[in-house]
Amino acid sequence: MEKTIAVLGSTGSIGTQTLEVVRENGDIRVAALAAGRNIDLLEKQIREFSPLLAAVWEEEDAKVLRDRVRDLDVRVVSGMEGLLEMARIPQAQILVTAIVGMIGIRPTMAAIEAGKDIALANKETLVTAGHLIMPLAKKHGVRILPVDSEHSAIFQVLHGEEPRSIRKLLITASGGPFRGKKRQELKNVRVEDALKHPNWSMGQKITIDSATLVNKGLEVMEARWLFNVGLEDIQVVVQPKSIIHSMVEFVDGAVLAQLGTPDMKLPIQYALYYPQRRYLPGERLDFSALRQISFEEPDEETFRGLALARDAAERGGSMPTVFNAANERAVAKFLRREISFLDIYTIIEEAMERHQVIAHPALEEILETEAKTYEWIESRWKH
Ligand code: NDP
Ligand code: MG
Repeated sequence: MEKTIAVLGSTGSIGTQTLEVVRENGDIRVAALAAGRNIDLLEKQIREFSPLLAAVWEEEDAKVLRDRVRDLDVRVVSGMEGLLEMARIPQAQILVTAIVGMIGIRPTMAAIEAGKDIALANKETLVTAGHLIMPLAKKHGVRILPVDSEHSAIFQVLHGEEPRSIRKLLITASGGPFRGKKRQELKNVRVEDALKHPNWSMGQKITIDSATLVNKGLEVMEARWLFNVGLEDIQVVVQPKSIIHSMVEFVDGAVLAQLGTPDMKLPIQYALYYPQRRYLPGERLDFSALRQISFEEPDEETFRGLALARDAAERGGSMPTVFNAANERAVAKFLRREISFLDIYTIIEEAMERHQVIAHPALEEILETEAKTYEWIESRWKH
């Protein structure tokens, strides 16, 4: 049967790679695309993939785009209503959530309620609303198919295994561009240095998150929801070359891993065709050239992103939202060169310290917590 998908965040790093997978396979239809402000690229994508619906954030941009694609059979919508409409589009069976930020939560919930499987890249969804998303997916009988490479690796390893035979998850981390450095050396690092990821080419925000280890922290929180494993049974292992994408230790002591060259198209394609595997062009692992794979423990004292994330996850409820929102704002400030690299940790820590946890936050409370965290940072860290 031919598959039809909708792509939320089609102009970003994951979005464009998703469309490459679609292009290379030639048997997936694209029913809807949504982007933020890059209407030039969105127009090109509309011309190539002929969706029925396209969503952009600002109505101003929607007007311009509508005019540009007048010759085509596509409807252009805007705002949150637009995102919700594209997420529910009846023709699609899968929504790819390649948008960045908590703005992805509501469309993801809308798609689940409409019975669509979710190819999930957007980390914020499970980190902040995992307690709402997982039961909702269960209720509607839809799958959450992980796109993040670590979670996809675990998902691949668990294929055909019983959940109760899992002993622990081993999430691998590259350690980022500053691996091996100490606090003193991180004081004056520049944005350009932080953006140089050793192995993966990704959006700016997640690249900074890799440098702080916040990304790994978000991944631990995501994994806990996806695979229903306790925090104490999720271990982070540094494996600098990103060859092992993650592993699972089973109750009998067996450890299974998924390996490969770092290429997001593999997890994207696996999610789109699950449980089928398709040919994927690209570099293969060459073990004669590789020779060795090395491991280290993460330096949690220097790169506090992981420890702060664990703390947020343990306190639970609305705390992961504060962690995530504070980090998001801090990273934006760092990218604008308003704060230093180490200030990112200070902002997260201070935001968490002053927050009163709401134990089982509803969606409205999650979004309110996000807004309040932003507000506080803007007043406390005025530029
Ligand atoms: P990018 O910044 O490259 O792309 C983000 C996408 O979201 C863009 O298409 C952007 O549109 C769109 N967007 C932003 N705001 C809005 C909005 N208000 N309305 C509609 N669309 C919007 O991010 P990545 O692709 O790197 O990451 C996306 C998500 O996937 C993140 O949650 C990230 O953590 C996760 N992820 C990414 C990985 C990677 O390799 N990149 C790996 C694993 C997870 P526009 O550009 O047009 O403004
Ligand atoms: Mg990852």
